[in-house]
Amino acid sequence: MKRVLSGIRATGRLHLGNYLGAVKGMLELQDNEEYETFYMVADVHTITTPYDVEELRRNRREVILDYLAAGLDPEKSVIFQQSEVNEHLELSFYLSSVVTVAKMQHLPTFKDKVKQFPEHVTMALLNYPVLMAADILAYKAQSVPVGIDQEPHLEVVREIARRFNQDYGTNFPEPTRFKTQGEYVPSLTGEGKMSKSVEGSYINLTDSLDVIKSKIAKIPTDEGRGEEIKGGVKSLFEFVGLFQGKEKKDELESKYKDEGVRYGEIKNELSEAIYNELKPIQEKRAEFENNPELVDKIISEGNKKARVVASQTLIEVKKAMGLS
Ligand code: ATP
Ligand code: MG
Repeated sequence: MKRVLSGIRATGRLHLGNYLGAVKGMLELQDNEEYETFYMVADVHTITTPYDVEELRRNRREVILDYLAAGLDPEKSVIFQQSEVNEHLELSFYLSSVVTVAKMQHLPTFKDKVKQFPEHVTMALLNYPVLMAADILAYKAQSVPVGIDQEPHLEVVREIARRFNQDYGTNFPEPTRFKTQGEYVPSLTGEGKMSKSVEGSYINLTDSLDVIKSKIAKIPTDEGRGEEIKGGVKSLFEFVGLFQGKEKKDELESKYKDEGVRYGEIKNELSEAIYNELKPIQEKRAEFENNPELVDKIISEGNKKARVVASQTLIEVKKAMGLS
């Protein structure tokens, strides 16, 4: 059976970008009987950038609650915590032996983080893609439902798999990204992508209609008419496309270039459309919040199941490397 691995950093509650770019794909593969699906909260990845201990403790649970609320089903998927499966860390060190420092330093994602946190350029940060390779290869996953921002990392994972197979005769598959329609959800600021760690950029799955309305209202716009669609207006129309359909988006774009559009109405309708999609997720979340023992059980069973598979891979790898 083919396998799937994906994860989300424990840096906050899930937002629309995580939902459309990653979780939607996770749900689709969970329902495909050809795949065995492994979905984790990437809590170890959280420590590669500055973080608060209490927040991490809270967020590693919040992400799981959001997963369950969005429809990840413990009957169909293994839902687990990365830090509870030591094999990820161990494999990551072994894999790092076929990766050059120069290669890691040249990744655009690394350079971005160096700019964002110049005082925090650590070995852990440099190792981020290697740990991600270990996450995926520990399960020999072929398919990885993640957003487009992760494509450079997946390229590294494929390279590591190739190199490792060449050097040690292992049989790691070269994983590919499972793409969704919302593979790139823009930031509400009109610049860059929606991110948990960028304040003012996101709408959480748990936001109320009022909060959504006030966030959408803040998307920077213009006088409503022009030749080129850019910045906040581009993001706004992008959201319309994602939540109200491509037809509506096309209609607005041509109106913008022709007689002009009125943002008040557009933003109101969009907010309603987003909330309608989130409401059932929020209702389901409340059920899990009210049943913490069930959530504990789901997590501990998921951790166990993940360990069974990952530890098997580690046995093979150590043997191939002359370490057992
Ligand atoms: P952080 O700012 O802490 O890095 P993030 O919002 O970028 O948080 P991640 O935990 O890094 O979220 O990514 C989790 C998953 O969500 C990944 O599959 C990633 O590709 C996807 N993702 C993140 N942001 C977006 C986005 N704006 N559009 C589509 N997919 C996204
Ligand atoms: Mg990220």
